[in-house]
Amino acid sequence: MHVTRETFDQVMVPNYNPAQMVPVRGVGSRVWDQAGNEYIDFAGGIAVNALGHCHPELVSALTEQGQKLWHLSNVFTNEPALRLASKLTEHTFAERVYFANSGAEANEAALKLARRYALEKFGEHKQKIIAFTQGFHGRTFFTVTVGGQPAYSDGFGPKPGAVEHCNYNDLAAFEALIDDDTCAVMMEPLQGEGGIISPDPDFVKGVRELCTKHNALLIFDEVQSGMGRTGHLYAYMGLDVVPDILTTAKSLGGGFPIGAMLTTTEIAQHLKPGTHGSTYGGNPLACAVAERTFDVINDPVVLEGVKQKEQQFRDILATINAKHHVFSEIRGKGLLLGCALNDDFTGQARQFLDASTTEHLMCLVAGANVVRFAPSLVIPEADISEGLSRFERAIASVVAAK
Ligand SMILES: *Cc1c(COP(=O)(O)O)cnc(C)c1O
Repeated sequence: MHVTRETFDQVMVPNYNPAQMVPVRGVGSRVWDQAGNEYIDFAGGIAVNALGHCHPELVSALTEQGQKLWHLSNVFTNEPALRLASKLTEHTFAERVYFANSGAEANEAALKLARRYALEKFGEHKQKIIAFTQGFHGRTFFTVTVGGQPAYSDGFGPKPGAVEHCNYNDLAAFEALIDDDTCAVMMEPLQGEGGIISPDPDFVKGVRELCTKHNALLIFDEVQSGMGRTGHLYAYMGLDVVPDILTTAKSLGGGFPIGAMLTTTEIAQHLKPGTHGSTYGGNPLACAVAERTFDVINDPVVLEGVKQKEQQFRDILATINAKHHVFSEIRGKGLLLGCALNDDFTGQARQFLDASTTEHLMCLVAGANVVRFAPSLVIPEADISEGLSRFERAIASVVAAK
């Protein structure tokens, strides 16, 4: 059966507007479409393909497990899930792990756990959840309500209650909002979808102190920032602040759907048997691939490589910008980078993305004003420089069309 981009418009729900080409194959940081055109991938499946496409270690983990056992549900446990949970707890603050299939599901579990914990430990008055404007936590109704972009949560009727928002990096406003009725604070330790916004180190420390003071759980959503993305295994490790609950997904599976919520034994005990669950959570195929992804990324050489590649991106982007004057700032950390457009190009991020696709470069946007890169953590230097040459051509075409 022959399918094309037109088929999308005939059979798919129209909630997405994908690029005009259809990718069919990928190796490392290169992808090919139906017509045989080759692309350099700076999008990484939205910060998911942390080891590029079809990394040999992941292909072998998937095919080995694929011949052993695919699915059990949580009526039985399984070896890959137990090994992955052991590694996640060994290498983070956490002592307990809950597996889900996506970032939103991991966050949903974190929010339900926080509410349950506060209810059982402190009583019904402690319900308030504080999150930050421009934050993104997924698309279930609870997580999208906690996310700080009303455009995503409006238009679906009554929302889950007791959720309030505060400006990111505004410690005074946060201090005015948090109180003893606050059960949890959910934040990204580097805002991704909202525009690649780094936290001020003092802000994060202040949030931690105020959470402790008011017995509110601090939930770090590391769905995008985690698994080596910032050059640390998790972003919190570079901030000197430890959360009570951490969620991780995207890069965790290297392209296979998986999410996880990590926390302490003390907090975890409030999710007793039957209180929460998922049919596929802890699926052996997903956990086997994630375990191998974790093994490859949790290596000082790979993490140091992320910092070197960040520098390469920053150096070349600075040279490009000196010539074309399109960015006000290059921001972010590690291989989660945002090129913020200056006033002359406000609102035109999508034009830069489309021009990049024309130049055979895959990239992302983060809002209307930021072009985002989230490539493979092991992308070769040659692919970075070739990809950025293509990006420069794309920039030149947008500037010329102005
Ligand atoms: C992508 C993302 C999510 C949602 O993850 P899904 O797997 O799409 O449900 C949640 N939080 C953050 C910070 C994300 O970047």
